[in-house]
Amino acid sequence: MTEKKKFQAIKGTRDLLPPETELWNRVEQTAREVFGTFGFGEIRPPIFEPTELFARAVGGETDIVSKEMYSFEDHDFGELEKLRSVLLIRELELENPQSASLHKGQLTEFNAGLEAGMKGRKIPVTPVNERALADLKMHTAKIEILRSDYTGGEWQARERFNASVTGIRQALRVVKFGDVISLRPEATASVCRAYIEHGMHALPQPVKLYYTGPMFRRERPQKGRYRQFYQIGAEVLEMVPPNQDPAKSIGKDAAVDAEVIEMVMAFFAQLGLEGVKLEINSIGDRECRPKYVELLRAELLKVKDKLGPDSQRRIETNPLRVLDSKLESEQGIIAGLPKIADHLCANCAGQYAEVKRQLGMRGVAYAENWRLVRGLDYYMRTTFEITARGLGSQNAVCGGGRYDGLVELLGGPPTKGIGFAIGEDRLILSLQEAGKGGAAQGRDVFVAWMGEKAQATAITAAQKLRAAGFRVELPPVEQKFGKALGQADKLGARYALILGDDEVATGQWTVKTLADGSQAKVSEAEFLEMLRKGKALSS
Ligand code: AMP
Repeated sequence: MTEKKKFQAIKGTRDLLPPETELWNRVEQTAREVFGTFGFGEIRPPIFEPTELFARAVGGETDIVSKEMYSFEDHDFGELEKLRSVLLIRELELENPQSASLHKGQLTEFNAGLEAGMKGRKIPVTPVNERALADLKMHTAKIEILRSDYTGGEWQARERFNASVTGIRQALRVVKFGDVISLRPEATASVCRAYIEHGMHALPQPVKLYYTGPMFRRERPQKGRYRQFYQIGAEVLEMVPPNQDPAKSIGKDAAVDAEVIEMVMAFFAQLGLEGVKLEINSIGDRECRPKYVELLRAELLKVKDKLGPDSQRRIETNPLRVLDSKLESEQGIIAGLPKIADHLCANCAGQYAEVKRQLGMRGVAYAENWRLVRGLDYYMRTTFEITARGLGSQNAVCGGGRYDGLVELLGGPPTKGIGFAIGEDRLILSLQEAGKGGAAQGRDVFVAWMGEKAQATAITAAQKLRAAGFRVELPPVEQKFGKALGQADKLGARYALILGDDEVATGQWTVKTLADGSQAKVSEAEFLEMLRKGKALSS
């Protein structure tokens, strides 16, 4: 007997089911409406992109890129891949010329396959692959000669043989049959890539785009943290005209930042999200931040012994992240560290002041948090984070900031950018905690029918009601009226439309209002009218 396997959703992923999905749809619909009023259009980028795009944009040293991406090689060379595994795992051994003779056919086959793939440009012709192919051919020929030297006992060519086997194994490991691609861990990089790819700098600037969809990060799952999670985000991109004086655009950039933040807050207000707190900061730019980071590093080195291992490591790798620390014992030390606000260059300080003034003009309440640094490399100047109630330790529902220069880093023209990403899973959790989940969808009408003639009427009635936009449940087989009414009740139907021989003959339908049990005979037109007005029979 075959074993019965119980399939389950992969750790860190989950099914979103009705009625909860109704709330998801409402949230996304509200985003579309609110963002639309601010002039944003939707972009739907692909879910996977070259790994290199994320490494470049998000930063190779960030946790997201270095540890958390789902990546794989995308190619059509399954057979070569298998051959490679066989050669690496089983066949080709050091010190073992017999294995060399065993594997010979496979190695030759592999080399020929690789060469043909590269010639046909189906396997990327990269310097790494070219070098690997050359090494493979050279070492394959070598071991073929060396192996024939072997007569048992002491073996002159042993070292050279081993060196060639090692060379082959190394070359096999580095060959890439296709591009390495990753499931997107965030979407800003994709939006910037699309901006460049479609020449959006030629459109009226700024270009305002929003997106919704799943992101993938291999994090440790917990409440509010998943490996497949959903973001709703928006980006404003604007090409910088040549010779623009950076000091002159400070006011404009600040207004754009403030409007983007205002838009998220308007969206949250529209949803009725509770306990919303907005924190803002400026993390400087390429001019002033490096100097501040050095100052911070120097100060941190003075207190290194008092810091935990994570922060100690970050003194070297990324001192700004120490400010993020939640470790109780470090809080006192961090409070005494130099604050970036005191070390901003004139342009950054000017823009930060203007962002605050602009938020004030828009009636957006905020708190300043000088310790707010964001985990992604691309941010500069304005950064912000929004938290909401009911989420425990994972209470950030939105993070965002300015990222001038990112488009350029990805090969596009000099471009300014600002955007945010909302964690939709957390947003939904917070709404549910506050009792804003909404009721189950229910039905407007449950059609209870009995008899063949009644079924024909029931089908036409259901078609008309559905066409008029009402939610209709039409049972596939006839049911006794008592049972049908019970089911209508369970489904949360507003009305039961009862169709038997009588109703078909007279054209007068029996309609029961489930909330109060009242019942009446009405014509089709009267029933539609009742539904439109949402009336109970008794009223
Ligand atoms: P980030 O792209 O890291 O700035 O994240 C923006 C927002 O996405 C955060 O504020 C969270 O609300 C949400 N988020 C990030 N990672 C996860 C995750 N693993 N699970 C659920 N939500 C997440």
